[in-house]
Amino acid sequence: MHTRREFLLHSVGPLVVGAAASTLEQLLSAQSRGRSYRYDLVVKGGQVVDPSQGLSARRDVAVSGSKISRLADSIPEADALHVIDATDRIVTPGWIDIHVHVYDGVAPLGIPADPNCIAKGVTTAVDAGSAGAHTFPGLRKYVINVSDTRILALLNISVVGQSTLSQDNPWGELLDLRYANADLAAKTIERHRDVIVGVKVRLTRNIAGEHDLEVLRRARTAADAVGLPVMIHIGGSHSTVAEILDLVKPGDVITHSFRGGEGGILDPQGRVHDEVLEKVASGVHLDIGHGAGSFSFDTAEKALEQGLKPGTISSDVHQFNVHGPVFDLATTVSKFLHLGLTLEEAIQRVTFNPSRVFGRLHELGTLREGATADISVFALDQGDFRLTDAHGATRLGRRVLRPVASVKAGELYGAASIPTERL
Ligand SMILES: [Zn+2]
Repeated sequence: MHTRREFLLHSVGPLVVGAAASTLEQLLSAQSRGRSYRYDLVVKGGQVVDPSQGLSARRDVAVSGSKISRLADSIPEADALHVIDATDRIVTPGWIDIHVHVYDGVAPLGIPADPNCIAKGVTTAVDAGSAGAHTFPGLRKYVINVSDTRILALLNISVVGQSTLSQDNPWGELLDLRYANADLAAKTIERHRDVIVGVKVRLTRNIAGEHDLEVLRRARTAADAVGLPVMIHIGGSHSTVAEILDLVKPGDVITHSFRGGEGGILDPQGRVHDEVLEKVASGVHLDIGHGAGSFSFDTAEKALEQGLKPGTISSDVHQFNVHGPVFDLATTVSKFLHLGLTLEEAIQRVTFNPSRVFGRLHELGTLREGATADISVFALDQGDFRLTDAHGATRLGRRVLRPVASVKAGELYGAASIPTERL
């Protein structure tokens, strides 16, 4: 006799990714020996925040197989094989982090994907240029193909990806211009079009030297050849922001957009450059990419005061910031709650907005009936929390999102989170 098991969120322990998360298929084999249920899973009683539908209200979410099958005020527990009790929790479409580094063991800044993505509420992550044409097959074979997190990638215009630059070796991947090969990049993208969503180029002086505009042109050539966008990493470059933006097209992504220091979006008086506003109006996406050196509370406060909000919030989580100040995407989003974004505005920037940036993500970022069943569940903790930017500046946050559980294409995962420092 088989009885329905209930997943109570407060009982989901730390780090139960993969091994402990039974697949619904496995659990469904039990169903065939017992009674049958209308739904495989119901996430019950949570505050559903789904900006794709303008929804922020108490709802139950039902999953059948790998799809969202129903969204309703109340779905009876008896109709579901499994029930997640999401009372007092925030339930959102699965989060999408469009800037991470998960080529663990090859790019010195790489970290393992699953403990840092799906265990943190990020069901889909985009590796932002850890691999180039020569190193991409390994990223595909050893990371993308075997991770529980859904991983897509931006291909670095440098054939070596980010394998050369580390804290001990300041030699960036584009200092030798011969590594910037548009033809090889385009060929690699054609071969892996199902998982590569664009081209990445980093323009900081220690990475691209004085030929930043030339490597950006080559990234542009490769991206145009395959009809995909470029993600441009700005800051501390040889050329000015205006010169760089001249080569940026609608659909492209500017990452590290709220960075401090030179080469950012603000002029010396703290005003957002006109060129930045013009590009955003034309359809260029501003992405956060917090990282170890690329998010400043001061810049963010000035930009938001002038009405400029980011299009997407991403973490740029990697080896040199995963133990702080980034930790994970939830901590990055919590910084924007402190900065004054509403919960709905913040969630939109990690769900619906990123799903619009890259074509391959269009079917994600929503809890609409029939959509892929990617769901993230969070607690919204209240208290006094210390939030730290990439320059060591701190702010007092009153609420932080803490990952509790994720569902990716109908499969359930628990959460691992490092508690944000309470004051
Ligand atoms: Zn990065």
